[in-house]
Amino acid sequence: MRATIYDYPLEELKNLVKPPFRAKQIYSWLYHNYVSSFDDMQNIPKTLRAELNEKYEISPLKIVKSEESDDGTIKYLFELADGHTIETVLLKMKDEKFNENGELIHHAKYTVCISTQVGCKVGCSFCLTAKGGFIRDLSAGEIVAQIVYIKRDKHIEHNRRGNIVYMGMGEPLDNLSALTSAIKIFSELDGLAISPRRQTVSTSGLSSKIDKLGEMDLGINLAISLHAVDDTLREELIPMNKAYNIASIMAAVRKFPIDKRKRVMFEYLVIDNINDDIASAKKLVKLLHGINAKVNLIYFNPYEGTSYGRPSVKKMESFSDYLINHGILSTIRQSKGIDISAACGQLREQTQ
Ligand code: SAH
Ligand code: SF4
Repeated sequence: MRATIYDYPLEELKNLVKPPFRAKQIYSWLYHNYVSSFDDMQNIPKTLRAELNEKYEISPLKIVKSEESDDGTIKYLFELADGHTIETVLLKMKDEKFNENGELIHHAKYTVCISTQVGCKVGCSFCLTAKGGFIRDLSAGEIVAQIVYIKRDKHIEHNRRGNIVYMGMGEPLDNLSALTSAIKIFSELDGLAISPRRQTVSTSGLSSKIDKLGEMDLGINLAISLHAVDDTLREELIPMNKAYNIASIMAAVRKFPIDKRKRVMFEYLVIDNINDDIASAKKLVKLLHGINAKVNLIYFNPYEGTSYGRPSVKKMESFSDYLINHGILSTIRQSKGIDISAACGQLREQTQ
């Protein structure tokens, strides 16, 4: 397999092409014009184009299909060079606005949910991605290409920044080096310029890797998939909790460098009759004491073959009310794209 040109942060690309100023030009073609062929890079000399053609691939992804949900969510299924598939989801957070003359006054706001692995090793009992086991890590270029493809497909100009959440398939911190390269490549000012403050890494809680990511001090946002407040239940839901228990995760979060204006997000997947009782809400309040936290309550999205159920709206609201009444910022996440299986935990590898 040839390397993809999306694998390289600008500094690295400068070491690979001569003279180094060509790297910026290449970046502009890749991330401002979204070209899919080196031959479209008009101000790059033919000899360099030929060299690039020989050494690198541009897009490591082939689109297999895309489906649009009633709420504007789009799910893309991509095939990688080795035939495995991944999914990426474009979430429309706000519609565009027009004035009475039909002129655009506000652009739509997007968040893209990207994958970092084919499958996942963590093996959460409630997650569809886990069912297919772990296949492999994505390269930085395969992570970056998901965003470039969507921007090109939806004609989103490079200066319309949007947000990135690492909440698709896989455990991002289990693929730390590709993840950190991707974060860097996305934030290059000569490229997409999506600052780390617009990027959120969601993790099931590999505390030692949270520490490592924190030490890099990238300015990234952190989301912890907590889902349970005691270790016995959390081990049932997330087997890896045996190695990284709740106390170790909370210790890592307390050390993690977070922008003063930002909060650490705690995702709490609410499963009917499993973790939806007020006693759990009470423990959660205690656990988050002293942390600038925001809790995102997620309805469990059922799928065929699962024994878990979706909680009632009433239960969800009482849980949320308890948190809010005890000083914890809490929102109930409205699942987008359920009709096309693009909601959280509904992404999986597709077998042709
Ligand atoms: N591996 C990372 C990121 C990908 S999962 C993590 O676990 O955080 C993204 C989110 O989807 C997680 O919060 C996960 O708990 C949630 N999720 C998984 N299965 C789900 C399901 N069936 N219904 C709702 N959310 C689910
Ligand atoms: Fe992996 Fe996240 Fe799914 Fe758990 S919820 S199996 S960590 S993708």
